[in-house]
Amino acid sequence: MGTADRDAIGMPARVARLPTGPRGPVAAARARMRAMATAKSPPTTATGTPAAAQPKPAAKAAPELSAPQRALQRMGLVRAIDLALHLPLRYEDETEVLAIADTHPGDKVQVEGTVTQCRVETRARRQLVVNLQDDAGDLLTLRFLNFYPSHQKAFAVGQRVRVRGELRGGFFGLEMMHPSFKAITPGAPLPSELTPVYPAAAQLPQPYLRKVISSALARAPLQEVLPPGIVPAQLPSLREALHTLHHPPAGVSQLSLEEGSHPAAQRLKFEELLAQQLSQLKARAERDRLRGPQIRAAADGLPTRLRAALPWGLTAAQDRVVAEITQDLAGPRPMHRLLQGDVGAGKTVVAALAAAVAMDAGWQCALMAPTEILAEQHFAKLVQWLEPLGIQVGWLTGSRKGKARKETLARVASGEAQLVVGTHAVIQDEVTFAKLGLAIVDEQHRFGVQQRLALRQKLALQGLEPHLLMMTATPIPRTLAMTYFADLDVSTIDELPPGRTPILTKVFADTRRDDVTARIADEVARGRQVYWVCPLIEESESGDERMAELQNVTDTHARLSEALAPVPVGLLHGRMPPAEKAEVMGRFKAGELPVLVATTVIEVGVDVPNASLMVIEHAERFGLAQLHQLRGRVGRGAAASVCVLMYAGPLSPTGKDRLRAMAETTDGFEIARRDLEIRGPGEFMGARQSGDALLRFADLAEDAPLLARARGVAAELLERHPAAAAAHVERWLGGRTEWLKA
Ligand code: ADP
Ligand code: MG
Repeated sequence: MGTADRDAIGMPARVARLPTGPRGPVAAARARMRAMATAKSPPTTATGTPAAAQPKPAAKAAPELSAPQRALQRMGLVRAIDLALHLPLRYEDETEVLAIADTHPGDKVQVEGTVTQCRVETRARRQLVVNLQDDAGDLLTLRFLNFYPSHQKAFAVGQRVRVRGELRGGFFGLEMMHPSFKAITPGAPLPSELTPVYPAAAQLPQPYLRKVISSALARAPLQEVLPPGIVPAQLPSLREALHTLHHPPAGVSQLSLEEGSHPAAQRLKFEELLAQQLSQLKARAERDRLRGPQIRAAADGLPTRLRAALPWGLTAAQDRVVAEITQDLAGPRPMHRLLQGDVGAGKTVVAALAAAVAMDAGWQCALMAPTEILAEQHFAKLVQWLEPLGIQVGWLTGSRKGKARKETLARVASGEAQLVVGTHAVIQDEVTFAKLGLAIVDEQHRFGVQQRLALRQKLALQGLEPHLLMMTATPIPRTLAMTYFADLDVSTIDELPPGRTPILTKVFADTRRDDVTARIADEVARGRQVYWVCPLIEESESGDERMAELQNVTDTHARLSEALAPVPVGLLHGRMPPAEKAEVMGRFKAGELPVLVATTVIEVGVDVPNASLMVIEHAERFGLAQLHQLRGRVGRGAAASVCVLMYAGPLSPTGKDRLRAMAETTDGFEIARRDLEIRGPGEFMGARQSGDALLRFADLAEDAPLLARARGVAAELLERHPAAAAAHVERWLGGRTEWLKA
């Protein structure tokens, strides 16, 4: 297992990390394999429906499937095209045999010779030692620390063998440890192609994979669907490209294949990028045909009165995004806009103003947040701002049951509740709106793609789709937005309200816990408040791990309570009943609890301006975006705030990079950029919960010229050759195009 695997274990399941490094098709394939190894559902295939939608394999697999066949199915390698697009991780060059005399220690080579001796040595460590002599009479020693009787049989004295491995200079001359080997008859021809090594799984031996992939390649439908002039001239056909990637001829640059600069690799990347650009254009064309309510803001209406009632003026950036949203609402198409703004940038008031425009014109609005705590804060703030102006605000969450729920549902259905705030309970089946004009989703990345699709489908009324505003503090770098979010307009709040003092971030080993505790006592003595965050293990983890989480947070709570006595310390975690959570949160907000020990339930949105110290335990287990969100819980008032990232050492190199990035910048956009750099786009987008990265081969940063070309030709292709465009999208994305619209 490499570092990346080890890191992944310590990470929350949803953000398991992949290796960085070269990102050609081969490297990308490698990354994919790691993802598969940890994925909960089978991966999406490149050309078909999401594998999850295919019949569940494993458990109900027909008995006639062999173990390797079942392994293929689990990897989503079902159809010929799936196998044809399953590219090698790397290659082995068995096309050349060197004379032992021409080799040097450190070389990775293949040599051929006759076994002169084979014996088991027990000195130091038990090992099999084989002596080999080539035709020129030079000698090589082979050593195997792990060996079976089959090895001894293969290396019978007098047998001719070809061995491949790395040479080293031993005390008794040249040696190879654990070479790969093959018994041959004298004069057996050398392969004329590099030998592919595929991403595999247990029970999927390479020779088997090579055979099935090779035969699938011959029968996969790889006819050219693109008209001339679309693919860059210097690139081979898809069939040729795949043939080269699976069976590279001897003498080809292995590096160019592995890095993805070889024309064959470029062709694959171009195909993939083109499919994405096409599906985005189609999604945009589809939305152009939709109609949303056309809402115009009146001059002295509700928005104007709300602004006048605020204790502060909007920042220039807030003003600008409000204008962008207002313009969208007035247009004929339903808005589909992402509002990005760093933590604390003031997105809530923008949402309130957007809602005010819609409500003023007689439309209902819905605001959804991913957690109950966050929804409740929105509710409190919106009630405070809007009720004095005569607006009725409804409250809907999963835990609101019985009569209260019935009443709210009735008020929503009648239109009496003009604004409804809650969790995803707001989009459940039994909720019907009288006249929904605008839906606002906070921290949209925390909502599953499916939920967002459901939202858009269910809210459509009389042929009108409601406007949709999504808000996030986890900005999406532009290249990613272009590729992953079809048809999405983006507004950005790029300045913080005045008067904020930047947060100072410190990285400590957890052996300095006592220093940190002393610091907490100081802060409390000055009338400030403190968060202490422990990692949250996801629902998907085993029962034991969830117990461990609980143990961790309750232990920390007990320890801090004792150390800080008589200062009261609050405790908040996901397993507490909602009413209890609300009570603890309420006491913290009111300042009755100076210290709060919590899991990541407080990750987003929680707004307590008096809090000035944030301690994050096991910071190495969090994703950068998550750390940034957590850190954003402090620094919300005028007091200078500190965030302490405590780690349990030793840190992996990427772990160090990540914590350093956090300490060096508080700019969410810069953090997103570094996160992308450290983790790679596949994984970065994992935060979307879309299951799989949509790009398997191309890399947005490295392949910018190809992306530009794909963008350039996509519109023309769609217009002049719609059938070819459709065939191409189907081949590459199949049933996955829906995902691009979410
Ligand atoms: P986020 O963008 O993270 O959701 P919030 O909407 O919670 O940020 O705003 C953070 C804090 O800043 C809140 O207390 C909010 O009332 C305050 N705030 C928002 N806009 C302004 C402004 N223009 N001037 C001063 N304070 C503001
Ligand atoms: Mg917020």
